[in-house]
Amino acid sequence: MRQVFNFSAGPAVLPEEVLAQAAAEMLDWHGSGQSVMEMSHRGKEYMSIHEQAERDLRELMGIPESHAVLFLQGGATLQFAMLPLNLLPERGHADYVNTGEWSTKAIKEARRFGEVNVVASSEDRQFTYVPPQSAWKRSPDAAYLHYCANETIGGVEFPFTPDAGKVPLVADISSNFLSRPVDVAKHALMYGGAQKNIGPAGLTIVIVRKDLLGHARAGIATMLDYKVHADADSMLNTPPTWAVYIAGLVFQWLKRQGGVPGIEQRNIEKAKLLYDYLDSTAFYTNPVDRSDRSRMNIPFRLPDAALDEPFLKGAKQRGLLQLKGHRSVGGMRASIYNAMPIEGVRALVDWMREFEKSHG
Ligand SMILES: *Cc1c(COP(=O)(O)O)cnc(C)c1O
Repeated sequence: MRQVFNFSAGPAVLPEEVLAQAAAEMLDWHGSGQSVMEMSHRGKEYMSIHEQAERDLRELMGIPESHAVLFLQGGATLQFAMLPLNLLPERGHADYVNTGEWSTKAIKEARRFGEVNVVASSEDRQFTYVPPQSAWKRSPDAAYLHYCANETIGGVEFPFTPDAGKVPLVADISSNFLSRPVDVAKHALMYGGAQKNIGPAGLTIVIVRKDLLGHARAGIATMLDYKVHADADSMLNTPPTWAVYIAGLVFQWLKRQGGVPGIEQRNIEKAKLLYDYLDSTAFYTNPVDRSDRSRMNIPFRLPDAALDEPFLKGAKQRGLLQLKGHRSVGGMRASIYNAMPIEGVRALVDWMREFEKSHG
């Protein structure tokens, strides 16, 4: 057992079992005499890893045959551009919901390529809630409707899947990927970087309805066209082989945890432990509306910013790492992704309680 709990927002904690397996297979993968890092991406060993990872992801999320799974690079940030370049016609417009910093970045990037309507925003209350759908000013002929399912910095998570009607629904799921069941069929496209909940940095996963492929803007780089990647089974060029391999091990680990419903139960339990404590005291505060609180990223403040340093120092001495909040928000943030054991959350709450006793 490792002696620390890592609350980083990403790159983030991975299951210890997965790291141990990767270590055991580091020099010689399954008797091949090679590390996965050294394998040709077109050889049968790596191909089997790649195909198994896709099969397991499809099984875990219930991804229907109507949707392609792409293993790409460039992070969710590149998807902020690839999405409009593929789905937003030059004279069309797209709808975006703004619930925080990542939505804001997606909107800003999309505006480089076309007209964007912000159909609802929670900026009026510092991005601490999800605007109710009844108040969204959607347009029926938008090229797509984009939302960020979990705002990693603000700690705001959609408690529902938006109803986009006939408009293709697009979600940034970077920080709640595989943490709760989602109805893939209701989405035209979902994307996320792997480094929050799935594996190492360097892999971006896109799940896209196949009938939307083939409409990329003329003149864009080949690498930016979803269809080219789909046609090449994500092997247009060298894929991030090591990251796909680790993601595949995480998918198998998730299956052993009872799949997505199994991990969701544990995520609910972990989040409840921390929120119940936050709600039981006036010493710490979380600004997010209860119904929209994230199960993955939990920001909280101490009564005085001068207490931040001693809080973090004591946390570190207890092996509770990377609790400092995002620079734009301040305070603390505990990211408790799938791989965070409940013992980590208990240890955090114990420290918070002890700190409150000595400083409250
Ligand atoms: C981290 C994050 C991003 C950016 O991901 P990169 O892989 O660093 O480009 C985008 N959206 C959300 C919700 C994130 O958490």
